Amino acid sequence: MKRLDRSFYVRRIPTLTHIYDDGTRLIVDPKTASWAVVDNMAYNFFQDISIHRYKVIENPSDKIKSCLISLYRAGLVEFENKPRKFSSNLYENVEYPFVFMLLRITNYCNLDCRYCYAKNIPGKTSHQEMDELTAYKAIDLLLQSEINSVGIVFSGGEPLLGGINKIIKIQKYVLKQAKEKRKEIDTAIQTNGTLLSEDTIRILEAHNIQMSISFDILASIHDANRKKANGYDSYEVVHKAMCKVDRLMRTKRDEMRPGFIAVITKEFISNVGDISNMLVNRLWNYGWQFNIIDQIGRGRKNIKNPSAESIFSALRILLEKSLENGRLFNPIRYMLFNILMRERGYMCFRSPCGAGNAMLSIDPDGTIFPCDSFLGRKDFEIGNIHDYNKLSDILNSPVVKLLRQRQVQNIPECSKCIWQHFCCGGCPGDAYAVNGKLLSPSSICRLSQMLFPYLIRKVVEDKRILHLLRVRSERNRYSTA
Ligand code: SF4
Ligand code: SF4
Repeated sequence: MKRLDRSFYVRRIPTLTHIYDDGTRLIVDPKTASWAVVDNMAYNFFQDISIHRYKVIENPSDKIKSCLISLYRAGLVEFENKPRKFSSNLYENVEYPFVFMLLRITNYCNLDCRYCYAKNIPGKTSHQEMDELTAYKAIDLLLQSEINSVGIVFSGGEPLLGGINKIIKIQKYVLKQAKEKRKEIDTAIQTNGTLLSEDTIRILEAHNIQMSISFDILASIHDANRKKANGYDSYEVVHKAMCKVDRLMRTKRDEMRPGFIAVITKEFISNVGDISNMLVNRLWNYGWQFNIIDQIGRGRKNIKNPSAESIFSALRILLEKSLENGRLFNPIRYMLFNILMRERGYMCFRSPCGAGNAMLSIDPDGTIFPCDSFLGRKDFEIGNIHDYNKLSDILNSPVVKLLRQRQVQNIPECSKCIWQHFCCGGCPGDAYAVNGKLLSPSSICRLSQMLFPYLIRKVVEDKRILHLLRVRSERNRYSTA
């Protein structure tokens, strides 16, 4: 920057500071999630710059020049003739369109998991199955989305209890409609894995339906949490099904991308060493997703939540293991994107979140919920899918408008928080379940407050992360002056 050669005028953006244990400072503009990790010299220099008036700097040393360039690139200072690099509104000029529907093919399940959402539905415990017409109606509405690429997940209960034929019939409708409307639809099934026979796996694969299997990795944990409805253990049957998936994967090479979802409970944390070994030795070819147990569904009553500190330390162990092996996992991957990018690609780390805005969950009888996190909550029912002909009417319904108001600046605690545009306030379904109000932080607030500063420092110090995320365009959002 030539103009830094002689005198120039600079002012800074209002920021908050996080101080690490070793005294290193992280300065953050909470409104844009712009940040820089700085040493003491840079920190003192930065603090000396006024927020309100331009300060003149004459004949800066090379060190000051490089510090200023880093701070400018991080979006934390601006020059008189060069405004700050990033707009003051993270969501300005960015649209997050409607992209996704979750079709609950049945509310019935053959397992009795301790943290199930679906079996916790007040007043809806009878066995219901979605008929084809309801599914078709949902798909027609989804295809009204303004974007070309959308997604569907068949879920439940256990969606395969309705039979693979029904799912394939719906999938054929999906493909036909997508072709007619010239759209792409990714389809996946969220299954507990107990009904995945060799044939079923082949049929799903042949019809391009990605599999995501609920799997708690170790038999002792899986069997403690995911009993069959008759009280028997379920690990063995699920593990056998995954062996069949493995066999088919070997013949398909890169064409199949199955994933699994495990829930982080106290037992998970106590066994995280064995779990991380299993990830590498047994589950390498799967997508890794870990759900942090929250306050929605039966987990609220049945499970004592682990402390934020213990989840944090388990996630650190998993992260080290995955980095050593050249992998990343969700939700850490999504969090890293919020640290490195301005775009909030993942709908659960966005303000407002995707519930009702980017996604809907459809009950077997056609009842529309903004997301599974609100399942069974009468006050969050949007209506029935058969009563709507326009997606835009659903997206402008009172429930969705209400959820659109849940933005970090409207949540008293979050509006003052340094991590507000990293964490985005957490899940509103969880916040509502815990606090009885939407405008409150979620139950993972404390965990977020530990994870984000840790991950930011990790990004600065561990170049493997940028390499794995293949993030280049916005690398200049961090600096170590
Ligand atoms: S939930 Fe907690 S960490 Fe997240 S923005 Fe709100 S106050 Fe901050
Ligand atoms: S309600 Fe919760 S789970 Fe649903 S999209 Fe929002 S943050 Fe994600």
